[in-house]
Amino acid sequence: MPDTEPDLATFPPAPADGEVRSLDALIIGAGFAGLYAIHLLRDRQGLDVVALEAASGVGGTWYWNRYPGARCDSESWSYCFQFDDDLVRAWQWSERYPRQPEILRYLNHVADRFDLRRSIRLDTRVTAARFDEAASRWLVTTEAGERYAARFLITAVGCLSAANIPDIPGLEHFGGTWVHTGNWPEAGVDFTGKRVGLIGTGSTGIQAAPVIAAEAAHLTVFQRTPNYSVPAQNHPLDETFRNRIKEAWPSLKARMRSNTNGHPYVPADRGTFEVSDEQRRAIYEQAWNAGGLSFRASFRDMMVDRAANDEASAFIREKIRGIVKDPATAAALTAFDHPFATKRPPIDTEYFETFNRDNVRLVDIRATPITRIVAEGVETRAGVVPLDIIVFATGFDAMTGPLLRIDIAGRGGTRLKDAWAEGPRTHLGLGVPGFPNLFTITGPGSPSVLTNMPVAIEQHVDWIAGCIAWLRAEGLARIEATPDAADTWGAHVAEVANATLYPTAASSWYLGANVPGKPRVFMPYLGGLGRYRAVCDTVAAEGYRGFTVAP
Ligand code: NAP
Repeated sequence: MPDTEPDLATFPPAPADGEVRSLDALIIGAGFAGLYAIHLLRDRQGLDVVALEAASGVGGTWYWNRYPGARCDSESWSYCFQFDDDLVRAWQWSERYPRQPEILRYLNHVADRFDLRRSIRLDTRVTAARFDEAASRWLVTTEAGERYAARFLITAVGCLSAANIPDIPGLEHFGGTWVHTGNWPEAGVDFTGKRVGLIGTGSTGIQAAPVIAAEAAHLTVFQRTPNYSVPAQNHPLDETFRNRIKEAWPSLKARMRSNTNGHPYVPADRGTFEVSDEQRRAIYEQAWNAGGLSFRASFRDMMVDRAANDEASAFIREKIRGIVKDPATAAALTAFDHPFATKRPPIDTEYFETFNRDNVRLVDIRATPITRIVAEGVETRAGVVPLDIIVFATGFDAMTGPLLRIDIAGRGGTRLKDAWAEGPRTHLGLGVPGFPNLFTITGPGSPSVLTNMPVAIEQHVDWIAGCIAWLRAEGLARIEATPDAADTWGAHVAEVANATLYPTAASSWYLGANVPGKPRVFMPYLGGLGRYRAVCDTVAAEGYRGFTVAP
């Protein structure tokens, strides 16, 4: 057998017909979170573990999001596992922001390096999980009818993995091809000579537009909410830089672990109005030229003080107007309705420059709403835009969506979707009252999407593995978050969010506002990763305060 082909005989076998395969822990998903969870639980604790993964390969979000222009908005050398210094030393990142294929190669390297594949069943979608109270174990069923029983159920399903395809009437009549960026076909999409419509101008649409425009005959960008974006200022990394990072790794790693956002940059400790107008402008200029997500960290009050945020917004608006040549297009692109960065701010590579191309047009669907999709293309109040391909860059049913698309039933048969009818209720985003032995990696109520994700993921998996080791050492079979702890934590998450400008962004996915009918709850924890880590450590040190345990 060639080296590149996995030895299928070593893969976890499917349970035979009617058989229930018993495990210590079942992990759903084989992205960053699932891979690390296998490693910790299987290799460090010797547990019998299987990860079930719906995709045909490992990688999670980086498996599915193969759309043109897909790359990470975190610096490559920080967007990686940190638990193994040899792994850090071994991997060479080629660019400041890695493209999707490079991250997918990295995650495949991790799967091979730690021999994780033999614990992963691919092409296996979990459809249901039910807690068996008598036996204190989870009974898990897959789409193909396989059945598993596991003491612990660990959801490593990602925060942004349930695609949000808008319910625009007539899609079924479209005569061309349509795709969602989060389910991009492995074979790719050929835009050559095609008229393409891109719906959505979030991080994804803003990454995809310039690349599609360069390939397609024509691109129409349908914009609902104008979005801020700061240049990524991507560039290749050279050997000297990579060596410097490796030398400074211990201190960089410590900073990422204790930082508010898991990123390596240090948020500035100066107020917007503590400097002169000239100094402020120079600071914005410097942040713009440096590029990336750290723009929002150039003043400490940007996300809590509306006047401070307005200054940053005005600077960005002026920059965009300086790039986009057509004044009407520039005006539509900068008619912001929310403070900067209260929706996750994209970073871009020549997004605004794209609107200076002859083959690109912006359609402001606030002014001329989409009425329906017809065979020839997208119909707006101003007429039909003829299209061959529609790309939905319309985001995700974030954070709760990936969990609620699985039929999860806890104690007494209570469904998670009913328990969360008013919004997610968790203790620390890790445990859910009524759902014993269920651990949600980067669940709602944790810093997750507001951070550099791999750092947040490692913290969660470390905590979960520590908790399972403790339960086993104490001879305990069950752990469950208490309703009181979840309510207290939920109130704290809301209180911290309400002290910032974030909840003022009416259409933000952080609030669930992008999905019709979803409860409006600010889901991620804004208290900072460093502070959150300390809270989780204290909870563990105090015998898992806020959780009940049973033999
Ligand atoms: P998103 O931020 O939710 O943006 C979705 C876009 O689609 C928005 O412009 C939205 O408009 C629009 N939209 C949704 N429903 C629509 C409808 N019915 N009609 C017209 N427009 C509609 O989704 P995303 O861009 O996929 O990004 C999601 C998150 O993924 C990001 O915020 C980020 O956290 C992550 N991400 C990360 C990277 C990275 O690191 N490289 C790259 C991409 C994405 P409204 O604003 O009006 O709702």
